[in-house]
Amino acid sequence: MDTLIFATNNQHKVDEIRLALGSRFNIITLKEAGIDIDIPEPHNTLEENASEKSKVIHDLTKKNCFSEDTGLEVEALNGEPGVKSARYAGEGRSFENNIEKLLVNLKPHENKNARFRTVISLILDDKEYLFEGICKGSITAGKKGSNGFGYDAVFVPDESEKTFAEMSMEEKSQYSHRKKALEKLIFFISSR
Ligand code: IMP
Repeated sequence: MDTLIFATNNQHKVDEIRLALGSRFNIITLKEAGIDIDIPEPHNTLEENASEKSKVIHDLTKKNCFSEDTGLEVEALNGEPGVKSARYAGEGRSFENNIEKLLVNLKPHENKNARFRTVISLILDDKEYLFEGICKGSITAGKKGSNGFGYDAVFVPDESEKTFAEMSMEEKSQYSHRKKALEKLIFFISSR
């Protein structure tokens, strides 16, 4: 079984990724690897932030690892909050605050189209590889559901009537941006 360190402190992401990867991979979290750091996300693109996170962990451990960075890109808001999704309402603000700001900003617009975009940076045998996953959908007028995290309660993927927060983790994974990026990673590792 391949062992990979997953460079995140977000337990929701760990759970989703373990579900998607199944028993084919042994995923070690930062906590389990004994690494207690908050990795910075200082850049203007998901790609650069994902790279930064995996490089920090690789420099520390010299082990195979991956990281991911995800943004919600809303068409009528010119792609915002995008790379700033985690701190849309300001540094240290909650998921609640970010959703509120998004709904207020989007209210005047008829176009509610949005997409989640995930970029994974994998460092395998000292080389870096990037994988992208996109989930298209739309933003609801108000919050629905209580599962998941982040913007899940206001995002409905195309081909569904439910928000991500109204779905089980298994249902979300049928549409998920993160799952799509992971499938590319799995295909890449399996075909080496
Ligand atoms: P991160 O920088 O990749 O941790 O993600 C930025 C922000 O995007 C998070 O704080 C969440 O608000 C949001 N986000 C990332 N992935 C998801 C998801 O799968 N569902 C809902 N929100 C998400």
